[in-house]
Amino acid sequence: MVLFEVPDCRQFLQTQQLWKTTCGKSACRSTPTIFQEQLGYTSAMGMPRLRLSAIARLGLARPGWRWLLPLLTALLVIAVLLSLVWLPLKAQRLESTERQEQLIADTLWVEQAIRFQFARDEDALRQLGAELASGRLTAPDLQARLAPLLRTNHELRRVAWIGDNGQILAASDEPVSGPPGLASESAAAADRARRTGIASYSQPAATGGLQTSTLLEYHVPLFDSGRYRGSLVASYSTALILEEMVPWWFAQDNEITLSGGDDNVIERRAAGGAGRGIYTHAHALDLPGANLTLRTNSIKVAPKLFPNLLVGAVVALALALLASLVALWRDINRRLAVEGALRQQVSFRTAMENSLVTGLRARDLDGRVTYVNPAFCQMVGTQADELLGRLPPMPYWAPEAMAEYQQRFSEVLAGTITPQGFETIFQRASGKRFPVLIFESPLVDASGRQTGWMGSILDISDRKRVEELNRQQQEKLQTSARLASMGEIASTVAHELNQPLAAISSYTTGALNILHASIASGNPVNAAALEMALQKASSQAQRAGQIIRSVHAFVKQRETVREAVPVQALIDGVVSLIELQAQKFFVGLQFVVAPQLPPILADRVLIEQVLLNLTRNAIEAMQDVAPVRRILRISAMREPVGAAEGGHATVLIAVTDQGHGIAADIGERLFSPFFSTKAEGMGMGLNICRTAIEFHGGRLTHRDNPGGGTIFEFTLPTAVLPATDRNSLPASA
Ligand code: ADP
Repeated sequence: MVLFEVPDCRQFLQTQQLWKTTCGKSACRSTPTIFQEQLGYTSAMGMPRLRLSAIARLGLARPGWRWLLPLLTALLVIAVLLSLVWLPLKAQRLESTERQEQLIADTLWVEQAIRFQFARDEDALRQLGAELASGRLTAPDLQARLAPLLRTNHELRRVAWIGDNGQILAASDEPVSGPPGLASESAAAADRARRTGIASYSQPAATGGLQTSTLLEYHVPLFDSGRYRGSLVASYSTALILEEMVPWWFAQDNEITLSGGDDNVIERRAAGGAGRGIYTHAHALDLPGANLTLRTNSIKVAPKLFPNLLVGAVVALALALLASLVALWRDINRRLAVEGALRQQVSFRTAMENSLVTGLRARDLDGRVTYVNPAFCQMVGTQADELLGRLPPMPYWAPEAMAEYQQRFSEVLAGTITPQGFETIFQRASGKRFPVLIFESPLVDASGRQTGWMGSILDISDRKRVEELNRQQQEKLQTSARLASMGEIASTVAHELNQPLAAISSYTTGALNILHASIASGNPVNAAALEMALQKASSQAQRAGQIIRSVHAFVKQRETVREAVPVQALIDGVVSLIELQAQKFFVGLQFVVAPQLPPILADRVLIEQVLLNLTRNAIEAMQDVAPVRRILRISAMREPVGAAEGGHATVLIAVTDQGHGIAADIGERLFSPFFSTKAEGMGMGLNICRTAIEFHGGRLTHRDNPGGGTIFEFTLPTAVLPATDRNSLPASA
């Protein structure tokens, strides 16, 4: 199984240019975040992990079949949705027709009911009329006979017997509330009935009598043996006809109107409100003589498309399902795109990871190794399986440095390690040690939480080799320079040795002469003269030996050893050689050593060589100035605390001359190797001096002497400081 981890690569930028060029900061940070957020992959140790096998399981290779099911479902849903729209439309039409038919049926039923009521009244009235005409019923008895009729038929307001000359002979409301006051329509009906001998209705009309405004009157002609005996007139209130004869439930759902021949509305009943005009029906009231139409107008509205909540809910859910399918579709497409990009990233980063030469090692907060890259495994010669999940001590820790590892490990866990990195040694599985440079940095996950530590490890064996090579070359160079200086000095020394040797020779010759004279004369030897000659020869021999020793020490290859050296002793060590140089050019020497100066911590020979180089340069710089100005001063003083780096106590040694001085352009290149203004100069002296001084933690500078000439000065740490480094360095300058 291939495991890919995307570490937070900020820290590696310090050490890996490769990261810089191939994995920019933003790319490295954003991509895992996107993948994590969009794909929801697990994040362990702050590093999103994706197993390639998991990608395969997602079916990325065969995306086709996955669409089949949702596609079918979507089609099914659309079909159901369409049917859900079509069915209610049909149902709506059906319901509409049903309502219309129902209205017609109800209207007919009401019309029949009205007609039936009128027919019963007609029968009763005709019966009464016949009795009145025959005289079986007298006017006074009429009221009693009419009472039950009027009681049961409220719409029947009055029944009156009108004589052939128009006077009221009897009436149901006696005493008669008023004259019949027949409207023209009623008079026409009366006339028609009289002429035809058939009872007839009048067209409803307003009347001033009775309280009702519009009356429908029924005229029953009374004939007795062919003789017209007047008529029986029944007055119906049109309002009450609708009120009494139309059932309440029907009136509640419909607006009912009675209209005349020219469609003028005579009466209206709208108990449930005005009709909507959607379901209407008109049917003529078949009343002889009257042209009346019963119209019904339903107050119901057209049936709704989705009449019930269930259908509505189903449609809503179907729409929601469709929307979620679309969303799912888009989401899957997005995921596919992201997964494609992720796979590319995985292969790219795996390739990059495998090509890295920097070892990468991740540890969790307990210090357990959670990740190592191939470069690291190769570096330490151990398989990843043997390292993953391990707690210290690690197999690549060298036993002799165990304490150092443990201390640094606890520093890492405590977070006190410096991000600048540190050097240490690791051991390969073969036991071979190699130097490494380690950068430790916190491992932070996408939510900003630290989940461990990430270390990048560089094998610096090559670098160390190069450094060692450089050091050796430097050493050789310095040796050559020293030998060159030695050549010069040797000639000086040879010249100077001539003097003591010549002196020794002459002193010993004098001593021999004294002995020979004594032997020849037989006188005792002049012991005093002999002793003086021998003493002088001895002191000259000692001086020669001193010169020889200095030169020997100067050229000797040796390891540097720092020790506490009193400044005076340092100067004393080279004074005879300096004197040799100075005498050659007639240069006067001054030594100014501050009292109670602490000893310096230095490699004595190195610093003596520095002094010799500087004094030699100073003497040479003065060879062309007036003899009176040829003064070389060597001074030593304590440098004020705080002026030196770190505020440690140091000693400042200055070599001051009054020579030709140093021009600005020359001053810039002074310390460059092989820079010399002298015909026979090697140009290595100052370079070596500076190396030697900086090796001691000091600094070598120069400045103009206010009185003319140059001051070279260098600082050295005092011996009170603890010895920090005893590494071997170039043996001498
Ligand atoms: P070299 O003495 O072989 O030339 P150095 O490195 O010792 O090499 O000196 C480099 C150059 O610095 C000298 O050639 C000289 O020009 C200049 N220099 C060094 N010391 C002094 C001094 N005290 N006064 C003037 N010039 C100096």
